[in-house]
Amino acid sequence: MTNQLNAVQNFFDGKFSDAKTKRFTPVVNPSNGEVIANTPMCELDELDIVVKKAQEAYGEWSKLPVVDRVQPLYRMKELLEKNSDEIARLLVLENGKTFKEAKGDLLRGLQMVEVACGMPSLIMGEFQSDVARGIDSHMNRRSMGVFACIGPFNFPAMIPFWFWPFAVACGNTMVIKPSERVPLTQVKIFELIQKAGFPPNVLNMVHGGKEIVNGMLEHPLIKGISFVGSTPVAKHIYTTGAKNGKRVQALGGAKNYMVILPDAPIEKSVQTMIDSCLGCAGERCLAGSVLIGVGPAYDKMKVELLSQLKNIKVGDGLNPETSMGPVISAEAKERIVADIEQSIREGAKVILDGREHPSMKSKGFFLGPTVLDQVKPGTLAATKEIFGPVISLMKVNSMDEAIEVINQSNYANTTSLFTSNGGAARDFANKVDPAMVGINLGVPAPMAFFSFGGSKDSFFGDIKAHGKGSIEFFTEKVTVMTRWFHEGVKESVSPQWDQN
Ligand code: NAD
Repeated sequence: MTNQLNAVQNFFDGKFSDAKTKRFTPVVNPSNGEVIANTPMCELDELDIVVKKAQEAYGEWSKLPVVDRVQPLYRMKELLEKNSDEIARLLVLENGKTFKEAKGDLLRGLQMVEVACGMPSLIMGEFQSDVARGIDSHMNRRSMGVFACIGPFNFPAMIPFWFWPFAVACGNTMVIKPSERVPLTQVKIFELIQKAGFPPNVLNMVHGGKEIVNGMLEHPLIKGISFVGSTPVAKHIYTTGAKNGKRVQALGGAKNYMVILPDAPIEKSVQTMIDSCLGCAGERCLAGSVLIGVGPAYDKMKVELLSQLKNIKVGDGLNPETSMGPVISAEAKERIVADIEQSIREGAKVILDGREHPSMKSKGFFLGPTVLDQVKPGTLAATKEIFGPVISLMKVNSMDEAIEVINQSNYANTTSLFTSNGGAARDFANKVDPAMVGINLGVPAPMAFFSFGGSKDSFFGDIKAHGKGSIEFFTEKVTVMTRWFHEGVKESVSPQWDQN
């Protein structure tokens, strides 16, 4: 929902309302540079009101049986399916990715809702009778209170879904702060949340930037924070949140390496690598960035890559012909061009130059695919998260050498191997640092029922996103030990328990 100033609105009390702030960040369509809405940069008092309301709503919501708490999620699934085209169109307008990619972004979110509908089974605790003579013990999972979710710009639909369906199904309430650059998708999703029948203040949205994030980190009523974004901010969220006694899961940036062995089927492997590197214009935390050819695979890969890249059509994401949209902003485009220039200074050879692509002349933030050859370990092209349509090529002599390059990186989000050798695949998966591994897959994004998250500088915290881990993150485990005094068991109680 937007008001007369075309400003997006906050959501609490079960309805949309204008933010009080007079500060706004423009939301820009990356395909033509036009301002399509404004994001209010809310002040801390606005956050405080919403968090207090979420805390109040928590009382009743947490007491509702879990079978009742999941009912709005079933309705949410249906609403999302019915409105998926409209949400995807909005997502393309504010983010730039293609319509097909936007549908994928939403589908992955929808799958989180489906899995969270199973919360009556997922949240079950444990029971063991006779842990000592006459004593039984059970573990129950208890909800905790208000959680906060902070999203990045690159998956405006999916990422908040990684957290909120699980958080609320576990009995918590939540405040979501979408990226100020792409608030419209979440606004549309909140219109559906409103229809799905969640009680007021169970799910809330406050717009803003780092002030709101820092306010969340300091707020005494917020029990935990789920963050996704760049590594420096993720680190800040983790350290500050933990210092303030909060649970934190903070997913950060990435630099992803894909390795091809000489025995890999070349055409399909390269096609998969291109989808990984250029999907969402390279603005994916699982995007392939450095392609490492082992021995003779290097030259074969290079030839096939340049041939297949001729089919990439850069343009507006709403055009069905487009295979790659623009990057998010003029600043992002400038930064990527600067990274290409720095890579050239460091010795990389440009064998396909995205800076010369005809789309560069249009008003949108377009950039053609760039391929940097002969990239050396330790240089920018080998180590920095460029987050754009730039592919670095590197040659090594063995898979072990490739693993060495991968494990030298500070990031460890994902990596992929292309091969037809099962033994090599097994060895690779066991030896690499990244915590999400693909074998003949370019974007090995774990499904909703598995956990998502990297390691090293790509993830800060103990419990990753979605999957069974989310039940751990959003609940407190409470262990109860029970003994009943009655005639029949008088003699059977262990001395250990009678002493206490
Ligand atoms: P970002 O870190 O700039 O912003 C993310 C969120 O943090 C936004 O909501 C923003 O308002 C807030 N923020 C920004 N600067 C802040 C500061 N100084 N203090 C407090 N809050 C701040 O990230 P982005 O550019 O929106 O997203 C791209 C990044 O996200 C990339 O690095 C990408 O790899 C990463 N990402 C990671 C994953 C993952 O699963 N690991 C998934 C998607 C994106």
